[in-house]
Amino acid sequence: MVEQQVYKINEVFESLQGEGAHTGVPAIFVRLQGCPVGCSWCDTKHTWEVNPEKEQSSQKVLSKTKESDCWFSATSESLLSLFSQQEYTAKTVILTGGEPCMYDLNDVSRVLIDAGYAVNVETSGTFDVMVDSRAWVTVSPKVNMRGGYEVLDSALNRADEIKHPIAMEKHIEELDLLLARLNSDRNPLIYLQPISQQKRATELAVETCIKRNWRLSLQTHKYIGIE
Ligand code: SF4
Repeated sequence: MVEQQVYKINEVFESLQGEGAHTGVPAIFVRLQGCPVGCSWCDTKHTWEVNPEKEQSSQKVLSKTKESDCWFSATSESLLSLFSQQEYTAKTVILTGGEPCMYDLNDVSRVLIDAGYAVNVETSGTFDVMVDSRAWVTVSPKVNMRGGYEVLDSALNRADEIKHPIAMEKHIEELDLLLARLNSDRNPLIYLQPISQQKRATELAVETCIKRNWRLSLQTHKYIGIE
């Protein structure tokens, strides 16, 4: 018998996608536990460590009322059952983290897509993206972060969307270097996303998007105060 892939999950909730190409789309967010990349401005630091002592039941994790580092284990099939128990109505699933590509996502993405969901993956680009070919992949490249991970060509070339967090000119130069490495016929959409809604970063993103014919991604969920 083939052993089923088990995923460690920090959070599952239904909301709207707040950023990037699918902004405004109702979605079920599945936040996977674990990330070694170490971005200083990370807003999900509670997902970094996978502490075995923090494993709990899915019901306990789903009912937590504030961010915490507890997680539950699920197979693809048990995740699907959970969606129907929760009576979610969204038809898009966003696999995020943490860094979801620390996991082999082939099984979960295939099961969800076969069940009628669209699957989007949000990754830092520092791990190979192991996912069903029908899934949408958003690479939000994290360059020179504390964890010392490099953005991989394989991740860039799998991207349907490259959404680059920026605060200053050097981040645009970084993006140019990454785009020069692209060697795929996917022709990914290019988005600039101001880091932490800073005013100067937003102005720079707007100016650059117009100049370069790129797109602007705002973290709309933060502006309207939803998860
Ligand atoms: S890759 Fe994402 S989860 Fe990991 S540290 Fe950076 S922002 Fe946080």
